[in-house]
Amino acid sequence: MLDLLIRGANLTDGRTGIDIAIQGSRITAVEPDITAQAARTIDATGRLVCPPFIDSHVHLDSTLSLGTPRLNESGTLLEGIALWGELKPLLTQEAIYDRAKKLCLWSMARGTLAIRSHVDICDDRLLAVDALLALRKEMSPYLDIQLVAFPQDGFIRTPKSRENLLRALEKGVDVVGGIPHFERTMADGAASVAALVKIAADRGVLVDMHCDESDDPLSRHIETLAAETVRHGLEGRVAGSHLTSMHSMDNYYVSKLIPLIREAGVAAIANPLINITLQGRHDTYPKRRGMTRVKELMAAGVTVAFGHDCVMDPWYPLGSHDMLEVANMALHVGQMTGVSEIKSCFEAVTSNAAKTLNLAGYGIAPGCHADLIVLQAEDAIEAIRLQAERLFVIRRGKVLAQTPVREATLHFGETKRTVDFTRSDLLNS
Ligand SMILES: [Zn+2]
Repeated sequence: MLDLLIRGANLTDGRTGIDIAIQGSRITAVEPDITAQAARTIDATGRLVCPPFIDSHVHLDSTLSLGTPRLNESGTLLEGIALWGELKPLLTQEAIYDRAKKLCLWSMARGTLAIRSHVDICDDRLLAVDALLALRKEMSPYLDIQLVAFPQDGFIRTPKSRENLLRALEKGVDVVGGIPHFERTMADGAASVAALVKIAADRGVLVDMHCDESDDPLSRHIETLAAETVRHGLEGRVAGSHLTSMHSMDNYYVSKLIPLIREAGVAAIANPLINITLQGRHDTYPKRRGMTRVKELMAAGVTVAFGHDCVMDPWYPLGSHDMLEVANMALHVGQMTGVSEIKSCFEAVTSNAAKTLNLAGYGIAPGCHADLIVLQAEDAIEAIRLQAERLFVIRRGKVLAQTPVREATLHFGETKRTVDFTRSDLLNS
């Protein structure tokens, strides 16, 4: 007797009519026509069933703080940083915890069951670290949170950042962060990368740095990050977030850089919603888009994941933590409307992100965690096009969230009919 049986699913690899058997917290079989009885059956006929979405890059310490203490009038990165500076002394552990928890609830409803969050360690009190460690523990039955020790005001330019970062790792923060482009000189930026990667290597933890988040075509910190990764043998354990300067770099230089990133096994994390709004602000026209070279990095075999980065905070007043919105924006900004390119954007918020976060047991296969979502869409392309409803969100074999089917009822002449914008809707007369 199975605990849960999902019937008739479409999978991202193109298989259709597949049943998924779940026993306890694990998937036990993925094949057509499973005959075993189950305590509960979910009919997913014609619907895409996939592993949960993953947000590879977000800031839970600032999320949902929009308007505190004031709004960002210019909408720029620099005013956002200034605003965060005004907010920091007013923060309490309780307020950070409450807002971050609310975002986790939104994530679960959206089918996002793993989040990598940066946490600012430049406040000597480490309030945000304590708040988010407590939240990570409370949320662990429902979603996975990875925390990155992020020296947001600069590692070298902030007096106690090294001590604070080490304290944060001691307390249980998972990943070493950095922000080399925010140091005062290019040399300081490179020195910060070298020092931080060494700390990670010594402690056996992962690395994820905000790297080259600017329009400066000469910002070169991703090169240093890749070289330091190789020096310490950390291939597969390091990510560079943003990498927006790559958008503006010289093409010849990039033709050398991308193979270095690939050989170093460094993953790239783009944040399309934020990159398209914050970059290019010094431009008149034409205005640069700012997002890193997602298409070219993917074509070269680099693992590319996407993050939401901000949700209603000093840098971004919008968002509802929907990773399908992120994928949708990425494919527009990157002009990735080819069939396989759209699918790649779906992978950037699912399987590529799992690889980037080094998650174990992720996927729809026997032995994997029974974590999955049933979408109101027949495939990944339709899911992105419609930002499809997550009809069922399942965590460790139990239904964690449900959303009703989205459809509109039309009172059309004498008749009443519904539309749901799916491709199967086109077949209805
Ligand atoms: Zn960020």
